[in-house]
Amino acid sequence: MATKNELIEMLATSSPDAIENLRQHAYQIMKDHVGELVYYRGIIELSNICTLNCHYCGIRRSNTAAQRYELDDEQVIEAAIWCAKQGYGSIVIQSGERRNHAFTARITRLVLEIKRKSISEKLPNGLGITLSLGEQSPATYRQWFNAGAHRYLLRIESTNQALFAALHPPAQQLDQRLQALHDLRDEGYQVGTGVMIGLPGQTLEMLADDILFFRDSDIDMIGMGPFIPHAQTPMSTEALGNTLRSKEERLQLALNMIAATRIACPDINIASTTALQAIVPDGREQGLTYGANVTMPNLTPAEVRKDYTLYDGKPCLDESKTECRTCLLRRIQSTGRQVGFDQWGDSLHFAHRTKTQPPH
Ligand code: SAH
Repeated sequence: MATKNELIEMLATSSPDAIENLRQHAYQIMKDHVGELVYYRGIIELSNICTLNCHYCGIRRSNTAAQRYELDDEQVIEAAIWCAKQGYGSIVIQSGERRNHAFTARITRLVLEIKRKSISEKLPNGLGITLSLGEQSPATYRQWFNAGAHRYLLRIESTNQALFAALHPPAQQLDQRLQALHDLRDEGYQVGTGVMIGLPGQTLEMLADDILFFRDSDIDMIGMGPFIPHAQTPMSTEALGNTLRSKEERLQLALNMIAATRIACPDINIASTTALQAIVPDGREQGLTYGANVTMPNLTPAEVRKDYTLYDGKPCLDESKTECRTCLLRRIQSTGRQVGFDQWGDSLHFAHRTKTQPPH
């Protein structure tokens, strides 16, 4: 088992030869434990309306320049069914955070409807549904689980108290987020989390602690990527000045972080996220070569994609989902990998942990 010092060393890797060794080591572990298939989760960005005010995020409540939108039921269901027909197997519904009854009840209805409509010969249990809708009550998680969602993504953002506090207003507390991850596990979800990488004030030691947290809390899935400043936030490039690491540094650190996480948690699913591609065009392919085995094609209708900008420079803003499909497949095949079409591609870690421990 990797120690904290070994993890710090992996994260600090900077010479080309050492990076290549780290990458190959992580890739081999991935191959041995979860195989080489890449699983798709088509992501539907339901709405950028958000009641929270995270300092780093472009859709934060106080950003009055953001054009707010909300997809209607038909758009969401159409995107989901398109996904099922393409063989994607799973979707993610992500949104700015809202906790009111109208919102939570709408999600329940959408999950039920997507499940019902996506059952086919190829997908006898319908699409795999992941939700990424922020902190909610246990009763809400339960309702959505019973409707058919079985995976949930909630990034911890940083497990370091002081850094977490620097990133969020006082009303948003690390403890609440930790509690939410516990609640999700108790409700039976496959639980995903993650952090932003290369934040101002974030040390390699903090990132190593994040990885130990993923391992010690038995996390099933990870989605993480480089921090990318958004101009209309308190953490813009201008405001951060020389506390911001260069793009190249943030990219390499994010790739090292994927590799170190794979080495520490061999049987989890790790996503290669869009933020990597916002730094360099082949960023997502690079993430796959460092041990990631999941990627998230964007299914959000092109007319509102530009409004779901969590960070500046989000790629593929004017591409349709059909264009994304062709482009992404080409990109994945360029790394010598195949896509696990028509499968959920669930976390093997979840299967392992629920065999030894009865599900809650
Ligand atoms: N409201 C949901 C979804 C949040 S957006 C929730 O709270 O879970 C998904 C992720 O985007 C966030 O968890 C955060 O890690 C990431 N993100 C937001 N702003 C970012 C930025 N400026 N750079 C990189 N990632 C960012």
